[in-house]
Amino acid sequence: MYDLIVVGMGPSAVFLAYELIELNNYKNVLLIDQGKPVEKRSCPMEKVGHCVNCKPYCNITCGFSGAGAFSDGKLNSYHLSSRDKNGNIYLGGNDGGYFKQYMSEKEITDLLTYTDNVYLKFGADKKLNGVDHMDEIKKLQEKASRNNLNLVSYPIRHLGTEKAHILYGKLEDYLKEHNINMLFETEVKDLIIEDGSVKGVKVHKLKDKTDEDIMGSKVVLAVGRKGASWLSEICIKHGINTKLGSVDIGIRYELPDKVMEKINEYMYEGKFIGRPFPYGDKVRTFCQNPSGFVSAEVYDNGLTLVNGHSYKDKKSTNTNLAILVSHHFTYPFDKPIEYGENVAQNLNRLGGNAIMVQRLGDINRGRRTWPEDLENNSVIPTLKGAVAGDLTYGLGYRTMTDILQFIKDVDKVVEGFAHPDNLLYGPEIKFYSNEVVLDKNFMTNINGLYSIGDGGGLTTGLMMASCAGVKMARILTGEKNEK
Ligand SMILES: Cc1cc2nc3c(=O)[nH]c(=O)nc-3n(C[C@H](O)[C@H](O)[C@H](O)COP(=O)(O)OP(=O)(O)OC[C@H]3O[C@@H](n4cnc5c(N)ncnc54)[C@H](O)[C@@H]3O)c2cc1C
Repeated sequence: MYDLIVVGMGPSAVFLAYELIELNNYKNVLLIDQGKPVEKRSCPMEKVGHCVNCKPYCNITCGFSGAGAFSDGKLNSYHLSSRDKNGNIYLGGNDGGYFKQYMSEKEITDLLTYTDNVYLKFGADKKLNGVDHMDEIKKLQEKASRNNLNLVSYPIRHLGTEKAHILYGKLEDYLKEHNINMLFETEVKDLIIEDGSVKGVKVHKLKDKTDEDIMGSKVVLAVGRKGASWLSEICIKHGINTKLGSVDIGIRYELPDKVMEKINEYMYEGKFIGRPFPYGDKVRTFCQNPSGFVSAEVYDNGLTLVNGHSYKDKKSTNTNLAILVSHHFTYPFDKPIEYGENVAQNLNRLGGNAIMVQRLGDINRGRRTWPEDLENNSVIPTLKGAVAGDLTYGLGYRTMTDILQFIKDVDKVVEGFAHPDNLLYGPEIKFYSNEVVLDKNFMTNINGLYSIGDGGGLTTGLMMASCAGVKMARILTGEKNEK
């Protein structure tokens, strides 16, 4: 019987446990994850050059520190000066982040500063990008604005993929030293709910293939995007209230560092947001990786999705970034996750279960890309296992039109952004479960059941997920850490 069970060990769960230790009044805590401890996580793609579809779970997204372990580790230190053109504080992700519904801007910035300091304490790089060239950034923002784009600027700390692994390793040791119980390679299959209150979880231990009920008086769901689909099913099964969420569908774009030189130097990551003609859908760049590498990761139902990251030391000569279109569906369709899964499935099948890559010039000329086209291309793909093909077979007309028009718009600010040799990889999809309805204490309509992090739609990135964990710990203990 535990005082608290946390499902998932991504950054939101890790920071929840960290803060409970700091507050020193929570005794019997259990974290459960289907993946492995961080030191045992490795992606075979590094060695074999292509995704081997690790079973039972993808090592890139599962295990201690969740999707954070192999992430690029960009910590977006959104703060009060990070405002969009309407003067609203910008917190990343969809519509400026959902955090504002739960806290004042002052509390959010205090939380960000506190969480940033914890990252520094565990070895994050002291250098902050995006703060030294404010005049140049302003000029770029004005140019973007003249072309109907919003270029959002904020300070950013870059851990780098290999350093992120080390940092989270130190956090794992810290949690162990402070008697936080951790159960790895264990899948939470279901929740135990009686009379409107949570009583525990039903687990399946992957190593010895046994099932068990684990009781706990409080349960926090921190399942990330990896668990978004599972979470949606659980919400339906147990009558956990949700709001219709969205799904972000798009591609990973790869182009020479030279083209992105100024953005990379001044901002490290430039967040362009536009509403291109004719649909006016929200399209944005996301997760920019200067001198980075395009990567693949495997999600539920064996879906392979593209992503990107960059190392601190190992460098390519390409920048990659996501171009995502937010899809909000209205009555009678209420299954954004299934829609995204269908798009991914089609593209995966077309690419023989690998990520597909196509030259922009080929899309514009209405032809597929062939492997030999890539050999002669000036932009050499950094994802070696990607298969040359035709993305337009799998991405919907509306999504594709949005992306192509957006690329043309950004080209007016960043010359060369629409060069025909630039590469589009797909599918890149960000699944958020239908947003779980939470009260001010992150509690669902089930007594004692909470939800934090990306999975339930509360956050969309490392920093905010980590902040959500800290805040959750303070809520659970009823304390505010003034340190
Ligand atoms: C390649 C890559 C690069 C990224 N780069 C950046 C970046 O530079 N900056 C940034 O801000 N964000 C980045 N992200 C996103 C970032 O990693 C996530 O926003 C963050 O990890 C979310 O934290 P979380 O705690 O909500 O969930 P996650 O980190 O997704 O962790 C969820 C955990 O829950 C476990 N889980 C799920 N369901 C179950 C279940 N039923 N039973 C047991 N365990 C379960 C999973 O195994 C996983 O370990 C990147 C992600 C990837 C994959």
